[in-house]
Amino acid sequence: MSSLSDYIRDIPDFPKKGIIFKDITPLLKSHQAFSTVMNTLYELYKNKKIDYVAGIESRGFIIGSALANKLGAGFVPIRKKGKLPYKTISLTYDLEYGSDTIEIHEDAFAPGDRVLLVDDLIATGGTLKAAAELIGKLDANLIDIAVVVELCFLKGRETLGSYPLYSLLTY
Ligand code: AMP
Repeated sequence: MSSLSDYIRDIPDFPKKGIIFKDITPLLKSHQAFSTVMNTLYELYKNKKIDYVAGIESRGFIIGSALANKLGAGFVPIRKKGKLPYKTISLTYDLEYGSDTIEIHEDAFAPGDRVLLVDDLIATGGTLKAAAELIGKLDANLIDIAVVVELCFLKGRETLGSYPLYSLLTY
């Protein structure tokens, strides 16, 4: 197989001018490339006693649910405001312009549950930091944060501060 980065497609000026969108659909479409991602993450976390993988809407659902199942763990969605049907706790965080709110079901975790947080990509890190804080609000134990792509020049790792981060591909 060619390198994993060959399956990440750059889309200039999407969703708005000046942004180079990292499109992971070619990676998902290739059984071999998607398997490489899953097997790498599985090997990293298989002995970490992960109870739940939490994935962020929406591409985090794809990576996270496949990984949860492979790890023998459950999957928990973290969603944009107003999408989850049961009682939620929420967190609002700043964007470059304005703010955004993410939510998790209030009974998603019991205190001490071992959680792996997953998304497709970290840019500024604001979304993952808010998700990590939500997990903390439920007193769960955040074991690691894993992403497929890290855009290093946006310094998301710095935004995360003391939260851990593993990335497969860096740009
Ligand atoms: P951030 O909070 O800035 O780290 O943004 C992370 C979220 O936005 C992730 O869920 C990504 O899927 C999405 N995102 C941000 N920038 C990009 C990009 N250049 N290409 C693809 N997805 C992006």
